Amino acid sequence: MSTQASADNLTAPVHDIVIVGSGPAGLTAAVYTARANLAPLVLEGEPSSTSDQPGGQLMLTTEVENFPGFPEGVMGPELMMRFREQAVRFGADIQTLKASKVDFSSWPHSIWVGDPDAAEPTYRGKAVIVSTGAQSLMLNLPDENRLIGHGLSTCATCDGFFFRGHEIAVVGGGDSAVEEATFLTKFADKVTLIHRRDELRASKIMQERAFSNPKIEMLWDSTVESVTGDTKLESIRVRNLKTDAVSHLPVTGLFVAIGHKPNTDLFKGQLEMEDTGYLVTGPGTRTNVTGVFACGDVQDHIYRQAITAAGSGCMAALDSERWLESIGEIEPGHVPQW
Ligand code: NAP
Repeated sequence: MSTQASADNLTAPVHDIVIVGSGPAGLTAAVYTARANLAPLVLEGEPSSTSDQPGGQLMLTTEVENFPGFPEGVMGPELMMRFREQAVRFGADIQTLKASKVDFSSWPHSIWVGDPDAAEPTYRGKAVIVSTGAQSLMLNLPDENRLIGHGLSTCATCDGFFFRGHEIAVVGGGDSAVEEATFLTKFADKVTLIHRRDELRASKIMQERAFSNPKIEMLWDSTVESVTGDTKLESIRVRNLKTDAVSHLPVTGLFVAIGHKPNTDLFKGQLEMEDTGYLVTGPGTRTNVTGVFACGDVQDHIYRQAITAAGSGCMAALDSERWLESIGEIEPGHVPQW
């Protein structure tokens, strides 16, 4: 069902659905398309120290308390393992491989793994679901990766609750940093907003909200030079870029909010994207290329939650199944009509 002989002279197997990326969006798309007996091929990515890895950004978090259905909370990596097991249970073929090149100019769509200069693609898909996610920009400090999920975070909505009564810091000067700092004052006793310049990039209304918040202290012209802590964050070293003075802040939380980068390098020149690199979708999860759908953080820079990514993964599955039905490639009846 999932593969067939090729009508042209290419030998790469043709799958009904190939899903590229395996965070909440990709694996939800896998669960749905697998339950529709389409045996999706999932290229889940390869291990890495960034969130660009199998399971995506949740692999770099600890406790997740806002994913519905887990009243006691669940560890991010365990949640993703459960998503994966559920997809495998229904017949998804999950390969720990990373796509190195795509060609969506002909159909079935071509995907390479390994040598991108190989004459033939490795796989082809009648429908392709892109769910390669995004990654938070990081400060690239030596102990940063080790302390992620242990005091160092990139998501205030996810982790703010754990800092009730603490003194914490946020790095950045854009809307995200100011919004996160303001949100975090619901929990923390004090939030130091550290920015590398002496004026914020954030919108005026967000700035005013932060400046009038007695729990937020601004640290201008400053950069975080290092983060310290054995098993969890204990302090950060900050340098004033104008005076060169160094100070140590005894914070237990550091939220890095200096922007996100969607994992879309692979799709440059193939799929329409915004100036920021996020894929353009709509109606629904359709991209500008027929038969290619996108879901999750790779096309969403607004909500960026595991649950919204999972929801759009479901949408991409249904959209791709409906499309395959509409062109007669799969039997009608896979997708519920309503
Ligand atoms: P952003 O606007 O690109 O701001 C990133 C901030 O991080 C800037 O202040 C930048 O400093 C700083 N920065 C970048 N690299 C850094 C580094 N290596 N070290 C220290 N600081 C660094 O990103 P964003 O705040 O995530 O916002 C992205 C987009 O989403 C924006 O269009 C924003 O308006 C929108 N957004 C809107 C809302 C809202 O309306 N509620 C909320 C969040 C985001 P410089 O200023 O010096 O460049």
